[in-house]
Amino acid sequence: MAAKLSSYRAKRDFASTPEPGGEASTGSGYGAPADDSAGCTERFVVQQHHARRLHWDLRLERDGTLASWALPRGIPAHPDENRLAVRTEDHPLEYLEFEGEISAGEYGAGLMSIWDRGTYRCEKFGDGEVIAVFSGERVRGRYALFQTRDDDWLIHRMDPPEEPGYEPMPERIKPMLARTGALPKEDDAYGYEVKWDGIRALCFCDHGHVALQGRNFTDFTSRYPELRELGPQLGAQRAILDGEVVALDEHGRPSFERLQARMHLESDSAVRRRVRDTPATYVIFDLLYLNGRPTHSLGYGERRRLLERLGLEGPLWRTPPYRRGEGRALLDATAALGVEGVVAKRLDCPYEPGRRSHAWIKVKNVCVQDVVVGGFSPGAGKRRGRVGALAVGYFDCGRLVYAGKVGTGFTERTAVHAVSSARASAQPPEPLPRTPAAARHRARRAEAGGLGRVP
Ligand code: MN
Repeated sequence: MAAKLSSYRAKRDFASTPEPGGEASTGSGYGAPADDSAGCTERFVVQQHHARRLHWDLRLERDGTLASWALPRGIPAHPDENRLAVRTEDHPLEYLEFEGEISAGEYGAGLMSIWDRGTYRCEKFGDGEVIAVFSGERVRGRYALFQTRDDDWLIHRMDPPEEPGYEPMPERIKPMLARTGALPKEDDAYGYEVKWDGIRALCFCDHGHVALQGRNFTDFTSRYPELRELGPQLGAQRAILDGEVVALDEHGRPSFERLQARMHLESDSAVRRRVRDTPATYVIFDLLYLNGRPTHSLGYGERRRLLERLGLEGPLWRTPPYRRGEGRALLDATAALGVEGVVAKRLDCPYEPGRRSHAWIKVKNVCVQDVVVGGFSPGAGKRRGRVGALAVGYFDCGRLVYAGKVGTGFTERTAVHAVSSARASAQPPEPLPRTPAAARHRARRAEAGGLGRVP
């Protein structure tokens, strides 16, 4: 026994770790003798271990110690979902009961808690293959563990899923989109959310692992590493969330300009530097899958109820409440705050992946802006020899900034008048500075088309 636990003991300093030393382990153990344990019943434990990365440790009683595997993605619930199981050192039997905080600096530092325990019937316990039928609180059914290479094994569920209708988590989904429109007349039939000005992203959470997927299946995970911390909050749950990655300004309003500083960074080190000064926040507004159940066929109101039960609130992620009816009041409130607008979502409508649906309406606050004509560009084609477009700007804190070109909405006479009066009051030429709004438009187009870096 001492030999079987030598690796366990060598890794630990029992003066500093609360883990058991294994002195009580004896060769007799429980259950069957070492040479033939097929068909007998022994104990098992699964510990949830918040070490550097959240994982689960499966330990099977065997010949007086606990044969152990670390499972980064937990125990699969479906035969189509084989999961990695990394063979680790044998642990002493006392570990069946162990829960506690392994202090920083020690081997396996972090909180260890019992996630499941019970007994298992061993059908096979070979060098590279184990077949076991578990009777635990959570884990029940027949599983195979088999070695693929060195310490890497896979765990496979041999039985059908325990819950009928359990479906594996989809790997990608196209988000549902909203149409632009006015506030709906049937106010009570809609839920209203603030329209967040950021980057749309679905978040796939599986046993603490997080993957962020953009509208065109772009993988944003490494771009916003601070959002990975959301994963462990869901523990062993599996969920697909829908939401918006935003950067908040000092007033807590989403600032697309700030987010731009994060959008096109190429290297991990550049990302790490910007995480500190411009952290991203994930604003969650929908739930598309939960623990084996796709939820997109449920109505919006029902999906929101399930989402809110998850209580996803953290330093960098939140689930802002929505409002049933009273769309006008919310729209006015967003206007007062200087936020883009609201999204109205029909309470009884399912989620329609990839569709720009009538069930979701984005209602924008209309802005009225006085502009100054700063110049024009000559027309082409039919408008050759006449004014093509007017270049307009507006005053921002006493500075004239460029707003863009206006090519319609004026007659030739108005244009000529505007240009000649602009000439009359001409000051020394000064190029209009590019505005964030113009840059934002280009950045958005680049993101939507997955074009990468903004020029
Ligand atoms: Mn562990």
